[in-house]
Amino acid sequence: MRTITDPRELQELCIQWRQQGLTIGLVPTMGFFHAGHLSLMDYVRPRCNRMIVTLFVNPTQFGPGEDLEAYPHDFERDSQLAKDQDADILFAPEAGAMYDSDHATWVNVPDLSTGLCGGSRPIHFQGVCTVVTKLFMLTQASLAAFGEKDWQQLAIIRRMVRDLNIPVEIHGRPIVREADGLAMSSRNAYLTEEERACAPAIHAGLEAAAALVRNGERDAETVKNFIRDRIGDGVPMGRADYIELVEPDSLKPVRNITAPVLAAVAVFVGRARLIDNQYIEV
Ligand code: AMP
Repeated sequence: MRTITDPRELQELCIQWRQQGLTIGLVPTMGFFHAGHLSLMDYVRPRCNRMIVTLFVNPTQFGPGEDLEAYPHDFERDSQLAKDQDADILFAPEAGAMYDSDHATWVNVPDLSTGLCGGSRPIHFQGVCTVVTKLFMLTQASLAAFGEKDWQQLAIIRRMVRDLNIPVEIHGRPIVREADGLAMSSRNAYLTEEERACAPAIHAGLEAAAALVRNGERDAETVKNFIRDRIGDGVPMGRADYIELVEPDSLKPVRNITAPVLAAVAVFVGRARLIDNQYIEV
């Protein structure tokens, strides 16, 4: 595995690979790898000739007062893990190499970016779309994998790729969880022991809501209140940022559940803002 920090070097190499007829698979990450990241690498590896894992804590997707500075990192460990997953390239640029001081071009998908996480993180998805577009341009990837844990991000990237005719296939992958149900996240490192012990109640609340819907409940408000109560009981120190039921692709809020819905939540638990979601069939 080669580690590359210079975007131009990466792009030149990838253009050469494409000219040789090799396919390139991409796994974009912010590092501090857990089994969720590794599952994406596992998935991409056999589906392409060259696998590129990117490790970049993208400053433009963090708002003021968010955890950009505190974001957990362990480059040596991540590097070893990417190598163990048989990545060809670990791309780990500095922020200054990705953004010139007069960077002025942004990619936006406003229709899908204002609700859910966009409510409390208004510039987040603009930063995500811009950096992911840059990664597509740099790597020439024909396949890229993203986790369903960040469902809204995945929906936005799918729409962006469709709307801009970007020649890459987007593959969404299931949420990898801890044994007790907590969705794996680099940010789980922020949790105290007590918070960590309560956090699985987020997933448990979503699962119980799915059962409620399967048993016939069709009123979204009732289901949202149910989730709020379950999470409130299980994570007493938590504060919900949002609890929503939306259409899985358009992310439009749902009132009456007549088709599969996505229940999505973000909960502040101590220093951590944890997100999770559950796709619910009817
Ligand atoms: P991050 O490093 O948090 O930006 O995540 C990099 C990629 O890993 C994104 O596509 C995430 O959706 C995905 N990911 C993060 N956590 C999980 C998880 N628990 N299960 C599956 N994919 C995940």
